Amino acid sequence: MRILIVEDESRIADFLQRGLRAEGHFCVIAGDGQEGLTLALEGDFDLILLDLMLPGLHGHEVCQQLRVNRISTPLIILTAMDSIEDIVVGLRLGADDYMTKPFSFEELLARIETVMRRSSTRQEEDPCLRAGAMEFNRESLQVTLEGKPLHLTAKELAILELLMSKPGTLFSRERILSNVWGLNMDPLTNIVDVYIGKLRKKVDLPDGPSIIETVRGMGYRLNLP
Ligand code: CA
Repeated sequence: MRILIVEDESRIADFLQRGLRAEGHFCVIAGDGQEGLTLALEGDFDLILLDLMLPGLHGHEVCQQLRVNRISTPLIILTAMDSIEDIVVGLRLGADDYMTKPFSFEELLARIETVMRRSSTRQEEDPCLRAGAMEFNRESLQVTLEGKPLHLTAKELAILELLMSKPGTLFSRERILSNVWGLNMDPLTNIVDVYIGKLRKKVDLPDGPSIIETVRGMGYRLNLP
């Protein structure tokens, strides 16, 4: 496999590279967040190991940018921070798993195996999400309503994909915000509501209730007709 290691502590990066090479993998090391992001966007990696506390760009930001750019490379967070909050944010931003440092190399290998197995089943799945007359192709990023293509912006696509991934599930504004805009947004912003408004104009059929239900004081959920 081709593995991207984004880690600023060279001691850890070398340790990982040595171990993974011995297992027959090819590794590329990025020493800061920005370099890691650029490589992850450009390179064709099978797996990314990502530290969180990085110079240049925080690991959360790297996760977020990868998601915005539709890079679905399996990703494991390696963090010295045992703060649950940091891990939860990372997982919500699209990381597949995490390990807190220090960790044993054996355990890392086991996690890699699990993550790779999960990702190969995921790829065999139907790329289309469906809700009523709407179809969202996660590969081509095309959305159709009654067979006609809808023209959605990147942010609108990201919100819709999130809601369609779990129809009926309530998504709080905070959850939508961190999934689509990342963590640097003011939690009091009404940007989520603004975008839901825009999205409804595009995805709802002219008559009838909106497919996106507002749950007052809580958030939004996708309702199947
Ligand atoms: Ca670090």
